[in-house]
Amino acid sequence: MNDFIENQLLLWKEAADNYKNLGATLRRRFSLGDFECAVQFNPARIRSTGAVTSKQAIAQRPCFLCAKNRPEEQIAVPAADGWELLLNPFPIFPVHFTIAATSHTPQKKIPFEMASFAERWPERAIFFNGAKACASAPDHAHCQAVLKSELPIITLAEKLHPFYNQSSIIHTSSTSADLPFHFYSAIIYPDTTGADILRALPQIQGNDAASGRPDPDLVNAIFWMGSEGVLRAIVIPRSAHRPECFYKEGSERILVSPGTIDMAGILILPRKEDFDKITGQDIRNIYSQVAVLP
Ligand SMILES: [Zn+2]
Repeated sequence: MNDFIENQLLLWKEAADNYKNLGATLRRRFSLGDFECAVQFNPARIRSTGAVTSKQAIAQRPCFLCAKNRPEEQIAVPAADGWELLLNPFPIFPVHFTIAATSHTPQKKIPFEMASFAERWPERAIFFNGAKACASAPDHAHCQAVLKSELPIITLAEKLHPFYNQSSIIHTSSTSADLPFHFYSAIIYPDTTGADILRALPQIQGNDAASGRPDPDLVNAIFWMGSEGVLRAIVIPRSAHRPECFYKEGSERILVSPGTIDMAGILILPRKEDFDKITGQDIRNIYSQVAVLP
């Protein structure tokens, strides 16, 4: 896989520049109770964070995940039946892939294939942004892959949901942990309980704060091979696509549009002024406005 990244960066200058610029990103760390997180200043992500996500805007732009619209430098490698692996040209981490459906079908429920991708690439976390939870292409099914060591919530889930040689699912509100929001954590053995849990995960829905209704497009999810060598997953139900501060003006504005990586403890801030001024309380407010609170 490192060969794939190297080949791709040799061929594709724009992506290579963005990966090189990752070295210049800045971080500030925060502890919110038991939740360790950080903010990353990453100006190249402005196009994703600030993206217009209305149905009309999405319908009018050429889909960047469809083969016919991709830059000619972008290489696709088959990942599974109906899926292909692509380098993400706007990385958050030094290893950052997109795994896209080969056909232009909308981002719907959490794809079952994520479990097999996690088993196939045990050093990676495979993650999913629901269509209303920061998916940059809600009209084209995809998930992404980064190194699992990059996501603080993975260490947290393994600590809060210990491993007892059997499949199980918990909601973190059942633990005594002090967290800014809660989520589901699953341990999935290849047995009947594990299969039941695997079928249940894509049924978890967010709850739209604006309408008060359950919404299957308001979720984030991560699959990975746990440190015990068993498949694990997290599903984070969401209540909103973006927090209030995204829509504010002037000094009250913080340009942040949380997807799985942000919910996993790395908030991406494309503006330096936001990076400099954000406080732990701001981060708590952001999480409380986009996650479903127990
Ligand atoms: Zn497409």
